[in-house]
Amino acid sequence: MTVTYEAALQKYEPTFGLETHVELGTATKMFCGCITTFGAEPNTHTCPVCLGLPGSLPVVNAKAIEYTIKIGLALNCSIASWCRFARKNYFYPDMPKDFQISQYDEPLCSEGYLDVAVGGKTVRVGIERVHLEEDTGKSLHVGGATGRIQGAEYSLVDYNRAGIPLVEIVTKPVPGTGFLAPEVAKAYVTELRDVLRSLGVSDVRMEEGSLRCDVNTSIALIGSDKWGTRTETKNVNSLRSVERAVRSEVARQAEVLDDGGRVIQETRHFHEDTGVTTSGRSKEEAQDYRYFPEPDLVPVAPATDWVEEIRKSLPELPSARRARLIDAWSLSELEFEALRNAGALDAVEATVAAGASSADARKWWLGELARRANDAGLEVSELPITPADVARVAALVAAGTLNDRLARQVIEGVLDGEGTPDEVVAARGLAVVSDDSALLSAIDEAIAGNPDVVARIRDGKVQASGVLVGAVMKATRGQADAARVKDLILERLA
Ligand code: ZN
Ligand code: MN
Repeated sequence: MTVTYEAALQKYEPTFGLETHVELGTATKMFCGCITTFGAEPNTHTCPVCLGLPGSLPVVNAKAIEYTIKIGLALNCSIASWCRFARKNYFYPDMPKDFQISQYDEPLCSEGYLDVAVGGKTVRVGIERVHLEEDTGKSLHVGGATGRIQGAEYSLVDYNRAGIPLVEIVTKPVPGTGFLAPEVAKAYVTELRDVLRSLGVSDVRMEEGSLRCDVNTSIALIGSDKWGTRTETKNVNSLRSVERAVRSEVARQAEVLDDGGRVIQETRHFHEDTGVTTSGRSKEEAQDYRYFPEPDLVPVAPATDWVEEIRKSLPELPSARRARLIDAWSLSELEFEALRNAGALDAVEATVAAGASSADARKWWLGELARRANDAGLEVSELPITPADVARVAALVAAGTLNDRLARQVIEGVLDGEGTPDEVVAARGLAVVSDDSALLSAIDEAIAGNPDVVARIRDGKVQASGVLVGAVMKATRGQADAARVKDLILERLA
């Protein structure tokens, strides 16, 4: 590509929008009693209803309705007092009924918003609708090099996923974020994922497909009052890819327009390996789906007091938690974002609950532990160390039993499976040597071995004592308190 994102932004204003599909964590499917566990043998979680066999009739899963209302309320939406499901007709082999039960012009939740913070600023992302539908099955293309249908010898289909409750959350177009558009898009999905996780309605695992994003992108000349034609990038499967997909699509569309072409409304595929999108199919219009009200289901009419009961049961949402922690820990917005982006919020909060100061908890999780997680290719939350362990290490440092260097060795021991911090201290013999008589013999040795340094100290060059402190620290394998060693040396030479 010859036009870079940076160059495109000199001339064009990007607008993006996101459609996010979330598999709900209900025990059973949307319209039948089949279980929803991930990773089972293909086609073992199926029945006449989710296979679309003639004569079978769907029944709505009440838990899925409750979860969807929860999501709608958390996203500041209005909840419909009456709405219907609709048939969306289309023919793909992974949809055994040849239609999907979805919602069309009567979504369960609509007109909400989600505030997201980027670089210390808040952007309000409008939510157009939150509706409920059923997931499709999964096609598996066998025999090709890429796992895609092109080049495959044959395809298999697994209907275990067909009929799992799926919530679709559609934003309004988000204009006016300029250069930050890719970051705001990523921040929105991150915040949405955190909201869904706090609600306990989905395991929101992007890598297992329980949270999937389609990213709509368009660009227009800066100052133009018309929006450009949008493209829809399908199945963007990680947070980082959301950002990259917007970025690469903005650059690609700028190149098309600069060359005098026009952007075609189509779906595009994002490629993780190259970070670019390629053309998919030209986009269906709503009329292609021939929606009509689903005749096999009664309308959904959630009672007002049930909705209010659900509203009262909402947990603390990420935005409220953010405000609470920023206040309690005296953080700046940027410090908070650093914690959240490192995935360390839960760990730090639990470490503080286990008795550490927030400064200590942040220091260990954002420093030593973030570094080790990064080296191991893990999230900090996946490290084999508990917040209580980290709080104990911080307490040992505060008590003077450990210095920072020894504390890092204790953490290493815990991560290597050598036991709790106290067990590692005992087994590795890591406590700071605070017994002066043990230090004094090492100090006397250092003094005897460095007569020239001693002479300079006696001449008043106190900073030369660093050499002797270093020798003592080395002799005690770092287990001495350096400040105490320095005091003892100067006393000795006074
Ligand atoms: Zn079923
Ligand atoms: Mn959908």
